[in-house]
Amino acid sequence: LMQLFRPLDMLGWVYRTIRQGLIDMAAMFRLIDTPVEVSDAPNAPALLVRKPTVVFDNVVFGYEDDRDILHGLSFEVPAGAHVAIVGPSGAGKSTIGRLLFRFYDPQSGRILIDGQDIASVTQESLRAAIGIVPQDSVLFNDTIGYNIGYGREDARDEDIARAAADAAILPFIRSLPDGFDTEVGERGLKLSGGEKQRVAIARTLLKNPPILLLDEATSALDTRTEQEITGTLRRVSRNRTSIAIAHRLSTVADADTIFVLDKGRLAESGSHQQLLRHDGLYAEMWSRQATEDVEEVN
Ligand code: ADP
Ligand code: MG
Repeated sequence: LMQLFRPLDMLGWVYRTIRQGLIDMAAMFRLIDTPVEVSDAPNAPALLVRKPTVVFDNVVFGYEDDRDILHGLSFEVPAGAHVAIVGPSGAGKSTIGRLLFRFYDPQSGRILIDGQDIASVTQESLRAAIGIVPQDSVLFNDTIGYNIGYGREDARDEDIARAAADAAILPFIRSLPDGFDTEVGERGLKLSGGEKQRVAIARTLLKNPPILLLDEATSALDTRTEQEITGTLRRVSRNRTSIAIAHRLSTVADADTIFVLDKGRLAESGSHQQLLRHDGLYAEMWSRQATEDVEEVN
């Protein structure tokens, strides 16, 4: 009998991985039907993450043959570190996330997680190791419970409730007459930007990935909600390696290391204080944003 169940088990696992993969694809591209350009090597082993380190080693990449976007990019993220990637729009920040998730392969150079080249392991195992919180999260026209549990078929009600609590959205859900059974999306309750982000955070926590990729996860929110969500993200990032791509510098000033990307090159890196003292691109962006924030308040 067990022999009969094992393939079904496998199928369930593959199904879950594909489901979560679709969510993450949608997160990275904002559409589902993007062609996947890479395939697994024959007999590729699964990625084994004991220490979630991330290394970009001299990565050259362009979407088109005649235009490189990343020009030999190298940086290292130690296990458990919280780093930020900042830089002007178009610098290649989101491209780094897409390469880490292996939607594309670099033209040259390597990307390593815990010492393993991500091009040599299965994509399922790679994508299971990385959770994404994007700028605008995708919600389905279904219940709030379904939207949180989506990536994990075997999630029990108490797992979903705990993830919701960790994402600080449990009191809100409990306040709804239908609780977790409340329909959300176009045909149901319309969630605010902050509530949607909390649902996305809960969904990611259920996946329990060792590496978190936050791509402008709070940039679509008003300043106050942004501060609240930033606090939640900081809390759930503990015990994980996190890479935060950010537009507003105030949300990443306390990162262990800030990588400043400019036209596909690492322009500077260091802590917030070090970069201010360095008085380069980061310091310029910082003072420009400080002025903009004052104008916003007035
Ligand atoms: P950032 O996130 O720093 O704003 P991106 O990594 O999204 O920048 O984009 C870097 C550059 O790559 C931009 O010039 C952008 O136009 C280009 N680019 C992004 N996605 C694609 C794509 N799918 N095909 C071709 N060019 C792209
Ligand atoms: Mg981007």
